[in-house]
Amino acid sequence: MITSVPVAYEEFMSYLDKVFTINENDIKVMIKEFHSEMQKGLSGYESSLKMIPSFVDRPEGSERGKFIALDLGGTNFRVLAVELDGNGGSSVLAVSKFVIKHECMTGTGKQLFNFIADSIETFLSDNEIDRTKIYDLAFTFSFPVEQTNVAAGTLIQWTKGFTAEGVVGEDVIVLLNEALRSKNINCIRVAALANDTVGTLVAKAYQDKNCDVGVILGTGSNACYPEKLTNISKWRGVRKKGSMIINMEWGNFCHLRRNCYDIDLDEESNNPGYQYLEKIVSGMYLGEITRRIVYDLVHRGLMFSGPNARRIFARKESIETKDMSLIQSDTTTNLGEIEEFLTELGITKITLLDKKLLKKICSLVSTRAARVAAAAISAVLSWLDPELKDEHTVGIDGSLFEKYPDFSNTMSEVFKMLFNEKAKNIKMELAKDGSGKGAAIIAAVAASSE
Ligand code: ADP
Ligand code: MG
Repeated sequence: MITSVPVAYEEFMSYLDKVFTINENDIKVMIKEFHSEMQKGLSGYESSLKMIPSFVDRPEGSERGKFIALDLGGTNFRVLAVELDGNGGSSVLAVSKFVIKHECMTGTGKQLFNFIADSIETFLSDNEIDRTKIYDLAFTFSFPVEQTNVAAGTLIQWTKGFTAEGVVGEDVIVLLNEALRSKNINCIRVAALANDTVGTLVAKAYQDKNCDVGVILGTGSNACYPEKLTNISKWRGVRKKGSMIINMEWGNFCHLRRNCYDIDLDEESNNPGYQYLEKIVSGMYLGEITRRIVYDLVHRGLMFSGPNARRIFARKESIETKDMSLIQSDTTTNLGEIEEFLTELGITKITLLDKKLLKKICSLVSTRAARVAAAAISAVLSWLDPELKDEHTVGIDGSLFEKYPDFSNTMSEVFKMLFNEKAKNIKMELAKDGSGKGAAIIAAVAASSE
């Protein structure tokens, strides 16, 4: 017990505890709301869950060949060449990463698609790809898209900081084909439009038949699962039997208790009123929530008494999610790594209490994120299998899940709390590169069904 801690500090910490804690009852309420939104989305009613048919089902595992995949939807743009061995195995033959410049994300659609085509050109040349052959390509475009076919779909709205003009309402495959043609890239046939979530599920399901949920916990957050066509009452397609993967676009789920930090963050974001779950759960936002709390404490005179703190923490992105990872993994008694991080930021007069407090704030923010993510997965699993009788593999892609200390343990605790011993039927597995390998599998499925 630290007796020198001011009362205002203790009061404030218990306030933070209260507004960031998600208890069992909150989770149960959330799951009910989730099911109701899923039902509405599948029926074509207004819902925060769009429940978008992806036009693909889970793969057989026997698809084979060489394919090109594009991955756009977050921090980097990637081009990959992937080989499928027809036996559940896949390997990335070549991959190039391109940083998406801010002006490409927020300029015109033409700029963005020209950048994509230029990157493909660089990839083809750098890897000396034989241009006399034709390659089937899948475009992983991880934004809400209303798909009308396996290789056609219009952008509903931008998320994750993208705003490129003239793309919303357009078919992104048409825009990609136009850009490829204008650059004279003729060795590529765009076979499929994919989504990182669907790619993740498909990639994991290619090797593991029990995999029936794909989840993204990276810059953004989303999930998908296979649904029986008879349950998709809005489905007007020719095929009536079997199932199809549904891209839930769960980042937009809105029935969540939000606090003043969430509300302010949303209002100052470039998509206010949307993506409430994503803004609580994903890597693009956790650092920013943390920064807002720290700024509030500095402002109240409860943290970092040095002269620069206010100015430093007034700056957006002064704390990023990867910094939170570092802060939470510092287990030294004097919290030396946290000290180093703060000193680099320009903070002075750092006390041990300041450092402990910062670590505690990161823990509150990340624990809530992991619990909400686990609650959402639980909602999907209990929709598919209310008694949780079968084994389920949840394929998860994203640096947040992969790298944040204890994120996955916190999620597992929620499964135990909700499902008791049945929780052992849930296996979370990192599906690294789902958006690349999965896209190749989708391209294979699409190309072979023509
Ligand atoms: P994307 O979602 O863009 O495809 P990633 O899955 O790599 O890419 O996720 C990137 C996001 O993960 C970044 O926005 C960042 O917030 C977060 N991130 C990156 N490194 C770490 C880390 N070490 N710990 C926690 N989160 C991280
Ligand atoms: Mg990704």
